[in-house]
Amino acid sequence: MKVTTLQPSQGPTHHSAAPAEQARQLRVASHSHIKGLGLSETGEALTQGSGFIGQAQAREACGVVVDLIRLRKFSGRALLLAGPPGTGKTALAMAISHELGTKVPFRILVASEVYSAEVKKTEVLAENFRRAIGIRVKETKEVFEGELTELTPTEAPNPLSGYGKTISHVVIGLKTVRGTKQLRLDPGVYEAIQKERIVVGDVVYIEANTGAVKRVGRSDAYATEFDLESETYVPLPKGDVHKRKELVQDLNLHDLDAANARPQGGQDIMSVMGQLVKGRRTEVTDKLRAEVNKVVKGYVDQGVAEIVPGVLFIDEVHMLDIECFSYLSRALESPMAPHVIFATNRGLTLVRGTDDITSPHGIPMDLLDRCLIVRTEPYRREEIRKVLEVRAGVEGLAVGTEALDKLADEGSRSSLRYALQLLSPSAILAQLSGRQEITPEDVQETHDLFLDAKRSARGLEDWASESES
Ligand code: ATP
Repeated sequence: MKVTTLQPSQGPTHHSAAPAEQARQLRVASHSHIKGLGLSETGEALTQGSGFIGQAQAREACGVVVDLIRLRKFSGRALLLAGPPGTGKTALAMAISHELGTKVPFRILVASEVYSAEVKKTEVLAENFRRAIGIRVKETKEVFEGELTELTPTEAPNPLSGYGKTISHVVIGLKTVRGTKQLRLDPGVYEAIQKERIVVGDVVYIEANTGAVKRVGRSDAYATEFDLESETYVPLPKGDVHKRKELVQDLNLHDLDAANARPQGGQDIMSVMGQLVKGRRTEVTDKLRAEVNKVVKGYVDQGVAEIVPGVLFIDEVHMLDIECFSYLSRALESPMAPHVIFATNRGLTLVRGTDDITSPHGIPMDLLDRCLIVRTEPYRREEIRKVLEVRAGVEGLAVGTEALDKLADEGSRSSLRYALQLLSPSAILAQLSGRQEITPEDVQETHDLFLDAKRSARGLEDWASESES
């Protein structure tokens, strides 16, 4: 008997997240309460809606931008959110992407990330542009339709001893499998098979201890059943168990660039998508991107793929330099551009990379001309209190009324961001004291332990003047 040992595949998207990526995920998580702009049917901001509180004018303006995008009247333009730190600029950008649809990619780039020793600034921008463009690939596959009850390994070392090691040529059996020698799937594996969309003919690897299921390839062997008379597995007629079904996979243009830069063999979607462009490569080049675009366009024309422009949010945009800005002006014109939202907390400032060009928000006038500018305003104490309340709810923290008042006071004295940051450490202090609920004392202690920006700067100024005298 031929025994094939298979290892779980390492697709291009399976590597662990780099620190910048983790920071990005954390940043996104802090906005998990934001589900949309919270506007009425007529576009007015509800006092509290979709997790949003206050900032009514900015939300309404963003609602108009969503309409423009839907009417395809926003191409070549960008939205600029200008306002003090922690006034909900990122939250607004996320809300816009929610309004555009659930599968719309949302990508955050902090402008300072473009300055890397290894990668060119424009490369960083290009990659982020492409990460913000979704590709929905529709695949028609033969899918097992019916109840998944057994796995029948045809070439496993010992087919009847159970899954546990590597099972090759796994096919999904039927409830009608005759005979007594059946492999029962435990519910976890059953679920995993459904989640991973394992279909008949897929070769899967089942981790013995965890029951995790991973697709590692495809096999021509089809569903089999154990035939008691001949004591062998015999193929089941295809028509009985297969249905052609449309499966949808959401990728982004950068996934395709990366997969084609490091093509891998295999039949899973990433491997297949990684063979769009011929030839072996090791890095993503403009030429490769152009080729990927061409193939994707072909797929769009055939109805196999759909382009889903997402939102690229560039925070601290004043940190970009003139070279980046001219790249952006060009990139906005591209038919493959995402919806771009800039944010800044700077007023009139020098455009980086120039000696003498001062411009509003540090953005050159030609790009500024293409921007719709929306202002975000500082929050009132009551609004800060409400945001804290919502956030505490999302994080599952119990905060007493007085503690909430104290946090709101800290927020209006310092910033909403600072008050939000006090929540988790306060909860830890409460827990250490054997309490579930955060008290004003916990907030005070956290406030004493962790400085806000103003107190921290003042402390250093005092230290500097003391050491000078
Ligand atoms: P920065 O200038 O520091 O980047 P920002 O203006 O982007 O800040 P956000 O990061 O959006 O501010 O806001 C800080 C936190 O407050 C986030 O957790 C955000 O979800 C929340 N938040 C801000 N404004 C609102 C609001 N109006 N309603 C509900 N939550 C809000």
